[in-house]
Amino acid sequence: MTEPEKAKARDRTFDELPLSSELRRGIRDLGYISPTPIQVAAIPDAVGGRDMVGTAQTGTGKTAAFLLPILERLMAVPGGRLLALVLTPTRELALQAEGFVRQLGRHTRLRAAAVYGGVGMGDQEKALRHGVEIIIATPGRLLDHMSRGYVDFSHLRILVLDEADRMLDMGFLPDVRRILSALPRQRQTMLFSATMPVEVVRLSRDFLHDPKTVQVGSTTAAAIGVHHLALPVASHRKVALLIELLRDETMTSVLVFARTKRRADRVARELSHAGLSATAIHGDRSQAQRVRALEGFREGHHRVLVATDIAARGIDVEGVSHVINLDVPHEAEVYIHRVGRTARAQRQGDALTLLGHEEEDDWSQIERLLGFTIDRARIPGFDYDAPSPPAPSGRASGGYGHGYSRRPPSRPAGRGGGPRYGGSSRRRRN
Ligand code: AMP
Repeated sequence: MTEPEKAKARDRTFDELPLSSELRRGIRDLGYISPTPIQVAAIPDAVGGRDMVGTAQTGTGKTAAFLLPILERLMAVPGGRLLALVLTPTRELALQAEGFVRQLGRHTRLRAAAVYGGVGMGDQEKALRHGVEIIIATPGRLLDHMSRGYVDFSHLRILVLDEADRMLDMGFLPDVRRILSALPRQRQTMLFSATMPVEVVRLSRDFLHDPKTVQVGSTTAAAIGVHHLALPVASHRKVALLIELLRDETMTSVLVFARTKRRADRVARELSHAGLSATAIHGDRSQAQRVRALEGFREGHHRVLVATDIAARGIDVEGVSHVINLDVPHEAEVYIHRVGRTARAQRQGDALTLLGHEEEDDWSQIERLLGFTIDRARIPGFDYDAPSPPAPSGRASGGYGHGYSRRPPSRPAGRGGGPRYGGSSRRRRN
């Protein structure tokens, strides 16, 4: 979309989109005032039944861009049977989309069920058998239900492939293809992806018919309104610096990314020991633990959620104030997915990255992908040169090796309570 098109999209209202009053009421109940650019671009053709390829990342409002047309189209069709299927890479995304259907469609008779692994099959089977109209599923679990004969696709009219690139990354494309080949050929298909790797292009070529292409932003641009900043620091001082950063109370709701599950757990524990309210979410935790952690974060009981990439994929938390990358991701695109968790749907948020010396190469790949250089800053008063922490056995005394946890918060020099980093930073828009 060009800048003038985007500006025009910003002035639009939902009343101009071909949506019934029942859906407009649902939209109003959710507090959405105007449609996002992808919603303006996608909804009219999608309601008209056209296939669609949407290049848009999380945070653009893409979920409502495909759910609203689904709801609109299905309102006119006899219900009580499966009419639409959304395939999505993670259970969190499935639950999130199911929640949106419930909210957006609350003035309609349409129902959705989320189908995902890691929990019992009984309730999902019941939903499938009792004819909910919309299923939002991860591919593996849906195949399990299919192999047991629980799913009747004969009335299916609409298929959505959500976050197709992520399904590719997670190795789901063979499952997706198997599911696709079991669906009626006469149907509308919409594919959404933040990036368009060749396998995803091939998938759309094989399964979509004359799709309209909708693109919001460049495929690689980071989410609108994100303020990026790098904080160079030796690796052994990263957790101490994180603790120091978190003493800034303007960081109200912070998503911290760690590279591994063990590191996520360890860091959450260290933050808790330092008196910061933190929890962790990653793929090794049970569904119940993940839901509990997410809810605790969403409701503000925990200020900090430490996550691995895969676990964080579907996280939809209103008002994440900051994303902090404890580690630089190896893949530049992952950085964009991470920072997409802040500044969601055009709010502004900050993305800070603790940059180890050995991560400079990965970092320059990210800057190349973004198309600009990210500013660097140092935190005043932080002891960058403290020695490495002692070996784990030396930590039994309850310290963290850096002697940091009991230090009073140091105030930012001359910045009157505002963010204490950012002296040399500037806001960038893409
Ligand atoms: P998504 O890109 O689908 O993950 O959506 C990101 C966030 O934007 C979600 O929290 C949605 O509730 C929110 N959202 C979607 N559409 C709108 C809209 N038109 N106005 C405001 N927020 C929206």
